[in-house]
Amino acid sequence: MADKLENLNNNLKHIPTWLDIDTAPWVIAGPCSAESADQIIETALALEKSPNVKVFRAGIWKPRTRPDTFEGVGPEGLEWLKLVKQQTRLLTTTEVATARHVELCLEKAVDILWIGARTTVNPFGVQEIAEALRGVDVPVMVKNPINPELGLWLGAIERLYQAGITKLAAIHRGFSGLVQTDYRNRPTWQIPIELKRCLPALPLICDPSHIAGRRDLVERVSQMALDFGITGLMVESHPNPDLALSDSDQQITPSELIEMLDRLKVRQVETTDPAVRDQIEYMRTQISRIDSQLIADLAERMKWVDKIGRLKRDCNVPVLQLNRWEYLLEDHLAQAREAGLEPAYVKAVFELIHANAVKKQL
Ligand code: PEP
Ligand code: MN
Repeated sequence: MADKLENLNNNLKHIPTWLDIDTAPWVIAGPCSAESADQIIETALALEKSPNVKVFRAGIWKPRTRPDTFEGVGPEGLEWLKLVKQQTRLLTTTEVATARHVELCLEKAVDILWIGARTTVNPFGVQEIAEALRGVDVPVMVKNPINPELGLWLGAIERLYQAGITKLAAIHRGFSGLVQTDYRNRPTWQIPIELKRCLPALPLICDPSHIAGRRDLVERVSQMALDFGITGLMVESHPNPDLALSDSDQQITPSELIEMLDRLKVRQVETTDPAVRDQIEYMRTQISRIDSQLIADLAERMKWVDKIGRLKRDCNVPVLQLNRWEYLLEDHLAQAREAGLEPAYVKAVFELIHANAVKKQL
């Protein structure tokens, strides 16, 4: 597995070889769905004004969660994307979910394809698309699966690579979860970070629109992406979001998008100011020192757990005393609150520590 990923990583074509990204952030923007030729042209002409916008997106086939909702205009929309190419400098991209979609897009010279979250979860679906792309040099972007499962995301990327596609990128669009949060799809940043660790050369793009689900959160999520060093954004934009036939709540107008891009702050990979560099170096040393201390403390804790485990066994006392665990957790959470720490964070840490302590005593 590691060898295979290394091979994939080494053979990926970097974004500048297939897309001119001379600005950061660089942006793929356009409506969730193509609705009419006028809507497409009006949006593309407005978005083209921003030098950051490089690619125009519009869904032609829309895999909708519920039936009886707008499922896209179909092949007619491909003619509208052609008009965008004729009338602007923007490249075009749309979602493909079947081999037939791929064929039609290639016929109409769509520049870049993407695989949606509802297709990435389906290995047969991805394989069918990969086969339709064999021998073709078109770039493909792969959205994460709707569920928080890195394997499916990696698997889809591998299937495309095995069909000969090397112009690949991943799009982080957040994950479904049972618990309702501020976001439509939780960002769960550790998954895209882990993807980047497995495939460092794979370009990662953030889709703040599908993570946010709400217009007022799109900027916050975009800034978070930039803070994580993700400089490519896919943002949904509609000339009249309230009237959009899909994802109306999360779309922003082209002028709102351009104003947002002006406000976003791109962080430098490494600062050139020696004073700031020294401060960062010092702070990193402090954090590493605390990490080492935490590891030493965890090891010492485990030694005591081992001792108490032996004593309990010798004296015929059960390993788990639920009352004590509940009391400890409450006490820890009270301390956490006092120290200004998020209780959910401290709870998660102690649950892990406790589960491992119980395991050690069994
Ligand atoms: C979309 O980009 O409009 C879309 C349907 O996205 P996702 O596959 O991320 O839900
Ligand atoms: Mn959408």
